[in-house]
Amino acid sequence: MVYETVIGLETHIQLGTASKAFCADAAAFGGAPNTHTGIISLAHPGTLPRLNKKAVEYAVKLGMALGCEINRRTSFDRKNYFYADLPKGFQTTQDRAPVCLGGSIALKVPGGQRNNPLIRIHHIHLEEDAGKSMHDQSPDHSFIDLNRAGVPLLEIVSEPDLRGPEEVAAYMEEMRRLVRWLGISDGNMEEGSMRCDVNISIRPQGSSTFGNRCEIKNMNSMRFAKRAIEFEVNRQIAIVEAGGKVFQETRGFDAADGTTYSLREKENAHDYRYFPEPDLPPVVLSEQYLSDIRQEMPLLPAQLETLFLETFGLPAYDAEQLTQDHATARYAKQLLELAVVNHPEKNLNKTIANLLINKLLPWCVSENTTLDQCPVRPEYWLEYAELIESGQLSASTAAQRLFPAMLETPATAPALLATQLNLLQSADNDFLEEIVNDVLARFPDKVAEYRKGKKGLLGMFMGEVMKNSKGKAEPQATTKLLQEKLSL
Ligand code: ADP
Ligand code: MG
Repeated sequence: MVYETVIGLETHIQLGTASKAFCADAAAFGGAPNTHTGIISLAHPGTLPRLNKKAVEYAVKLGMALGCEINRRTSFDRKNYFYADLPKGFQTTQDRAPVCLGGSIALKVPGGQRNNPLIRIHHIHLEEDAGKSMHDQSPDHSFIDLNRAGVPLLEIVSEPDLRGPEEVAAYMEEMRRLVRWLGISDGNMEEGSMRCDVNISIRPQGSSTFGNRCEIKNMNSMRFAKRAIEFEVNRQIAIVEAGGKVFQETRGFDAADGTTYSLREKENAHDYRYFPEPDLPPVVLSEQYLSDIRQEMPLLPAQLETLFLETFGLPAYDAEQLTQDHATARYAKQLLELAVVNHPEKNLNKTIANLLINKLLPWCVSENTTLDQCPVRPEYWLEYAELIESGQLSASTAAQRLFPAMLETPATAPALLATQLNLLQSADNDFLEEIVNDVLARFPDKVAEYRKGKKGLLGMFMGEVMKNSKGKAEPQATTKLLQEKLSL
């Protein structure tokens, strides 16, 4: 029997707001334990919540980016349960009217079984995080840090549309790119700003009904999620193959041995006694409010990828590399558009993409900085590209010599810099002829072999001329001259 894996994700994104979801305490990660904790975070009796406007705006932005319907009237509910890191005894969340409904996310799964699967989103709701319990610091005490209590989260609930660990990884990566792009979260899995609950079931391939699912809680690394899914799928298949039934439950993942283990029976909505939050009135989002946010929405990664592909004619690989993050894409777009204005007669697009991908982005990584901090102004990068494109400078000399020189003397125009450093190529016949004659004189045997038909030797002659000219021989003119002299 061949089985199909069915997965639905509940992804939690910690929002990058300055303050918490329902009070003014700092929402920042870290800090000494229990220092971001005013009376509301601590749930003192009689305190009342006030909704963070920015958190709603961020939810709406993500909803718009995913093509969700935005609920014009959104409201909050209490989800009741007892735990020491939840001082109120309930989590303020959204059950009946979440901010966003529906929507979808398109995935690219390299080597996956399905081509660009479209994963439907069920809804996105706003809620608050709980504090952090630490049970491993002491043999006989548990510790609680309430800094995180009340930090705003978005929970993005997918439909059970994912079909394996590769798709889960692609989904999480795409979601991370998107929230960073929109500037609503740092999407940092290590610091817990992005984590997910993975719902998994299996069914015979071709079946249209779903199997019973297990939910694996709180996966905070892609590597663990992959291992947890693989283990869980095998566990469920073994149960079914042995004639048993998968029991719907909530499970944990043990990173030490790569297994999942039962935490509790799956709780149902009624176990939480959800009820409307009486302390927060429903929020009505006006048409004006939504259209103002829509105005502010940036071009999304997929839109920019299309722009780079179709308008600027870049290869798919380049378009993908240039849309990994928003700052890079913005900078690339700026350079490409400026090139059209400053050099309308030239097509510098591919040269600019090469400069960004092979030189500028690696430079940012090694200097631990960002493109907008680059001391060289955009116009000079275009001039750099133009020098290559016009054949005045070889691409390799540009990359190896001019690029570092420009970063060292950012105020000097690259053409001037290249002249000062004596890097410009020459197609000047006298200049080339002297070098070519010299090379041919040094290799009489090779010249004879070439003339007998070993035409492949041309590359070797080219190499010698390049070496002797210190890379300044213009390749086309050199080739022509060499061919002329060799065919004599
Ligand atoms: P609950 O509210 O009880 O957590 P939901 O029906 O809202 O349950 O589903 C939660 C998540 O589980 C969603 O992401 C959904 O896609 C996923 N899910 C539901 N049924 C299955 C299934 N049979 N197999 C895998 N995932 C599922
Ligand atoms: Mg759930």
